[in-house]
Amino acid sequence: MSLKGKVALVTGSTSGIGQGIARGLAAAGADIMLNGFGDAEQIEALRAGMAAQFGVRVGHSPADMAKPEQIAAMVGQTEATFGAVDVLVNNAGIQFVANLEEFPAERWDAVIAVNLSAVFHAMKAAIPGMKRRGWGRIINIASAHGLVASAQKVAYVAAKHGVVGMTKVAAIELANHGVTANAICPGWVLTPLVQRQLEDRAKLEGTDLDTQKHRFLTEKQPMEQFSTPEQIGALAVFLCSEGAKTITGAPLSVDGGWVAQ
Ligand code: NAD
Repeated sequence: MSLKGKVALVTGSTSGIGQGIARGLAAAGADIMLNGFGDAEQIEALRAGMAAQFGVRVGHSPADMAKPEQIAAMVGQTEATFGAVDVLVNNAGIQFVANLEEFPAERWDAVIAVNLSAVFHAMKAAIPGMKRRGWGRIINIASAHGLVASAQKVAYVAAKHGVVGMTKVAAIELANHGVTANAICPGWVLTPLVQRQLEDRAKLEGTDLDTQKHRFLTEKQPMEQFSTPEQIGALAVFLCSEGAKTITGAPLSVDGGWVAQ
């Protein structure tokens, strides 16, 4: 399957799952606009390395997904630089863990801005071009927490349930425009986002990291292993293929059986 000639914008792709998705799409031939925070030199090395490895054009937008005007500008910049946004992957995300009654209001606002509102703003900006060209793929990275809840993650769970709902609305509106919209719902993937939670719990409970890894997995997933960014990337690539043409509005779990229970 070739995505040669297509352009993919992947938010939050300087790390973790977004990086895995960007590499998967680049390996399939798509030009890539990376987005996300990090050390400028490391990001430039990542950008140039991907361009050389996959023989595609790779750019980077430093847009902050908490800022609607920067999101619209990033979509515009991608269209101006590479000619289109054919594949939009809304992946940037943050986490904060606390009981509801202690959850700081500013953390609620931040999680909702990056994990929920950014998905709306990016879709809104990218859809007109997709409709004009009669082809598009919107892939929203939700979570198992888009389908079921856990304690202490009120903002994250609210945002991810919202992403699943928003994806369905987009799918219905775009059904006859050659544009599909789907949500990928990963279980545990060992990225910096999860590593921070592991370290916090290890400190709190006075255990080592391996004990916490085992606890995280067995608390939630029948399958006692992490999914990988590459596996999430492989599903994203499939969703861009001809075989996935009529898959739309679907929350697709990659979660070792988490929500099957
Ligand atoms: P990560 O922390 O490794 O990567 C997050 C990326 O988002 C980074 O590139 C970071 O720079 C970027 N980012 C954060 N805030 C941003 C902002 N305001 N503007 C622009 N970029 C920003 O996390 P990850 O685990 O790879 O998570 C990626 C997505 O997958 C998130 O939406 C997360 O909720 C979701 N997810 C992760 C897991 C998991 O187990 N890791 C499970 C389910 C869903």
